[in-house]
Amino acid sequence: MRHIFKKYSNVLPPYCSDSKILESCNKCLDSPCIGVCEENIIKKDSNGIYLDFKESGCSFCKKCAIACMENSFGLLDLTLGDKIVATIQINQSKCLAWQKTLCSYCLDVCDNKSIKFIGSLYPEVGESCTKCGMCKSVCPVDAIILKS
Ligand code: SF4
Ligand code: SF4
Ligand code: SF4
Repeated sequence: MRHIFKKYSNVLPPYCSDSKILESCNKCLDSPCIGVCEENIIKKDSNGIYLDFKESGCSFCKKCAIACMENSFGLLDLTLGDKIVATIQINQSKCLAWQKTLCSYCLDVCDNKSIKFIGSLYPEVGESCTKCGMCKSVCPVDAIILKS
């Protein structure tokens, strides 16, 4: 149990707020959530499912939760809303804009308008962020830290 908790101090899928579900989730051999994810961000290893933002972020299409509900496990829960339980932070020493190089990829991709540039120069993430990870997937220098 301790091992699972340690591993999943990273990011769980949306509609899921507790790493304890992974004990049941791991018994789901088909993992239909992975196949239906339109952004291809749900991955699984020997410890269970997790989100990988290398290619994209979550569009909150709900397909993972619906697929899970249709499966006998039904662990993902749509009543939890369109958000991912995680923390987000911009690493200022890596961020191009904070280092005075023109960059606004994160701002441009955020449909939620959760990124503001302080004084038009320095990006910060606001309270409305859903932790979708879209900004992380487009940041050219991996300056966005998204973890639970
Ligand atoms: S809500 Fe959609 S995009 Fe987000 S993890 Fe689930 S299937 Fe993937
Ligand atoms: S995309 Fe990355 S490097 Fe560019 S402004 Fe945003 S956090 Fe900084
Ligand atoms: S700032 Fe938040 S809501 Fe906007 S793209 Fe990044 S993770 Fe998604």
